[in-house]
Amino acid sequence: MGGPGDHRRDQHRAGLTLSGRPPRAVVIGSGPNGLAAAIELARAGVRVEVREAAAVVGGGLRSTELTLPGFVHDVCSAIHPLAVASPALADVEVEWVHPDAPAAHPLDDGSAVMLERSLEETAAGLGADGSAYRALVGPFVRAWPDLVRLRAGAALRTVGPRSLLAGLAGARPLAERRFRHERARALFAGQGAHSLLPLERRPSGGVALVLLVLGHAVGWPFPRGGAQRLADALAARFLELGGEVRTGSPVDELPRADLVLADLAPRELVRIAGDRLPGRYARALTRYRHGPGAFKLDWALSAPIPWRAAEAARAGTVHLGGSLEEIADSERRAWSDAPAERPFVLLAQQGRFDPTRGQTAWAYCHVPNGCAVDMTERIEAQVERFAPGFRARVLARHAMGPAALQAHNRNLVGGDLNNGAMDLGQLFFRPARRLVPYRTPLRGLYLCSAATPPGGGVHGLCGFAAARVALGDLGITAPSPRTTTS
Ligand SMILES: Cc1cc2nc3c(=O)[nH]c(=O)nc-3n(C[C@H](O)[C@H](O)[C@H](O)COP(=O)(O)OP(=O)(O)OC[C@H]3O[C@@H](n4cnc5c(N)ncnc54)[C@H](O)[C@@H]3O)c2cc1C
Repeated sequence: MGGPGDHRRDQHRAGLTLSGRPPRAVVIGSGPNGLAAAIELARAGVRVEVREAAAVVGGGLRSTELTLPGFVHDVCSAIHPLAVASPALADVEVEWVHPDAPAAHPLDDGSAVMLERSLEETAAGLGADGSAYRALVGPFVRAWPDLVRLRAGAALRTVGPRSLLAGLAGARPLAERRFRHERARALFAGQGAHSLLPLERRPSGGVALVLLVLGHAVGWPFPRGGAQRLADALAARFLELGGEVRTGSPVDELPRADLVLADLAPRELVRIAGDRLPGRYARALTRYRHGPGAFKLDWALSAPIPWRAAEAARAGTVHLGGSLEEIADSERRAWSDAPAERPFVLLAQQGRFDPTRGQTAWAYCHVPNGCAVDMTERIEAQVERFAPGFRARVLARHAMGPAALQAHNRNLVGGDLNNGAMDLGQLFFRPARRLVPYRTPLRGLYLCSAATPPGGGVHGLCGFAAARVALGDLGITAPSPRTTTS
C-alpha cells in the first residue's frame, strides 16, 4: 500500500504504478462483496489476488451436502432477489429458478396470504386492504425502471414524499397505520422481520417495502443447484479477467499491495491490521454494533412439505409466525436475552422447485446474538403448526446456531447475518462515521463487506462501491457500470 500523490495519480491513470507495473490488489475474503470488488478491480486492469480462509469460495454463498449424500443445502443465503436486481452481479451466467410466487404467509385459519409476482394479484388477495397495498407499494414498483437506471430524480418524483417517508418507518407502526386487517398486517410484518430489527424500530418498514417491491419487480429466485452456483459463476468471471484465487488462505496480517480490500467484519480488520490503524478509527470499529444471531436448520425430506394452505406450495419462501403481534414479539425477543418460544421462521423450499439438489428445505429464526439455546424443536413446531405431518417427512436434519455459523464464516459475529445491526444509526454510516465509509484512514486499505453501505444481503454492492472508490483514489477511471440482466 502506498499513498497516491499527484504524480502517482498520473501514473496510475495510465494503469501503471511508479515502478511501471500494473497496480496490485489483494481482496481478503471471497463473499459476494469480495468477489464483486475483485471483478471490478480486474475489469479496470488491476492485478488482483483473492485470499479466502475457507477451502471453498463464496462466503455466504456456499452450498454443500449437509445432511445426506445427494441433498445439496445452502449453508447461509438461499433466496436472491437482491442479487438479480444488482448491477454489481449482472454479467455472470446463473440459471435462476423462479417459483410461481415469491412468498407465502400461512395463517392459523388454514389460508395463506400470498406475495405474488403481480402487484394486482397480491392486492386482490388482501381484500379490503388491497387498495392500501396498491397505494403503499405501487409507487415504488412504478419507479423501479428509473431506480435500476440510477435516474434518481425521476424515481423520486414517481415515488413522492409520502411514500419516501414510509420507507423510513418501523414496520409495525406503518402496517397498523396503513392496513385495517390482520392478513395484510401479517404479510407486512413477515417482510419487515428480514431487517432483524424489532418491528417498532426504523427502518424495518423500509426493508419490508424493498422486499415486496423486489417480489413484483424481479421475483425472489434462487440459483438452480444451490447458492454456490452464483459464487462459482462470480469466481469464474474473475478468473477469466486474469484474477487469482487462493482458498484455504486465512489472512492474519495486512498484505503488501497497492490496494487491500477487506471483505471482513470490522473487528476482524482490527485484528489483522493491529496497531497500524489509527486508534480512534480502531476504537470505532471495535464499538460497531452487531444485531441478533440466526439459528438455522436444513432438512433432507422424503417428500415436499405438506402445507395445510395449498397455496403455500406455490411459493419459494414461506414465512411462519402467524399474526403481526406474534412476529413482533419474536423479533423483540431476539434483542433480549432469551429467544421466543414461538419464533418467527423464514423457510425456503428449494427442493420443491429444483430437483437437482434433492428434496431439501432450509429455515432459520432470529435469536439473541451469540445465543446458545437449541431452537430445533421450536422451529420444527412452527413448521408442524402450518404443515401437520411435516416431521414424518424428515429423513435427516442439520442445525447451526450462532457459534457454528461464526465457525463456518468469521464474518457472522455471534451469528449476525448482516455483519452489523442495520438500524438508522448504522445504515448510512457503516461501520464508522466517515464521509466515504469504504475508505479507512490507512491509505490503500478499504472495507468492502456488508459492514459498509448498503449493508447485508447478497448484492455485491458494497464490494462494487468500495472498488470504485479505491480505483478513483488511484486515479483510474472505472469501466462503466453494467445493467441488470433481469
Ligand atoms: C443463515 C443465513 C441466511 C441468509 N440468507 C440470505 C438470503 O436468503 N438472501 C440474501 O441476500 N442474504 C442472505 N444472508 C446474508 C448474506 O449471506 C450476507 O449478507 C452476504 O453473504 C455478505 O457478503 P459479504 O461478501 O459481505 O461477506 P461473506 O459472504 O460473509 O464473506 C466473507 C468471506 O470472508 C472470509 N474471511 C473472513 N475473514 C477472513 C480472513 N481473515 N482471511 C481470509 N478470509 C476471511 C470468510 O471465510 C468469507 O468467505 C444470509 C446469511 C446467513 C448467515
